[in-house]
Amino acid sequence: MPPDLPALPEDLIACPTCDALYKAVIPAQGSKMACTRCHRVLISPSRHAGAKIILLALASFALVMGAVFQPFLSIKRFWITREATLMDTALAFEGPLLILSVAVLVLVILLPILRLALTVYVLTPLVMNRPPLPFARTAFRMAETLRPWSMAEIFAIGAAVAMIKIVDLAHVSLGPAVWMFAGFVALLSLQNTLMCRWSVWKALDDD
Ligand SMILES: [Zn+2]
Repeated sequence: MPPDLPALPEDLIACPTCDALYKAVIPAQGSKMACTRCHRVLISPSRHAGAKIILLALASFALVMGAVFQPFLSIKRFWITREATLMDTALAFEGPLLILSVAVLVLVILLPILRLALTVYVLTPLVMNRPPLPFARTAFRMAETLRPWSMAEIFAIGAAVAMIKIVDLAHVSLGPAVWMFAGFVALLSLQNTLMCRWSVWKALDDD
């Protein structure tokens, strides 16, 4: 049996970048608490951040739905033109490649959508000053666990590289889905920046 360690006070916060430990002090509205060693922002409470994140999540959802079903690319070679949506591309494969393309769809589309839904579920009552919905803590923990697995940004970079390569082979024009997907990725990273995880956990704990 390990010796009993003294219980840590609950208001400690560790810097996720450099592990420095601080006593959490809720900064005044509009200011932030940052790590003095590496300057990473630790707490940035904002009354409006929750509402902004929810609106961004709804906008991202609309964009990703458009990106899935609108034409992504049209390729023209000689007199043949083909348009393809992300869905067509994923379902065009067979055998092991089908498994791969379904995995890509899950990581690039479904997981980000699931995270958006979980975020809206957790934040909506908090923004409205209501008690959290049932399982809000589990939902938020799940959204945080899935964060490294939601790979929309990586797909965007991969798709950009692939497009540069096929431009030499055929006449490629970008469909509306490309811009919607780009907007989706931009909104996702904006939400990540706005989200103060410490404030959300605190709000869920205080209930
Ligand atoms: Zn630090």
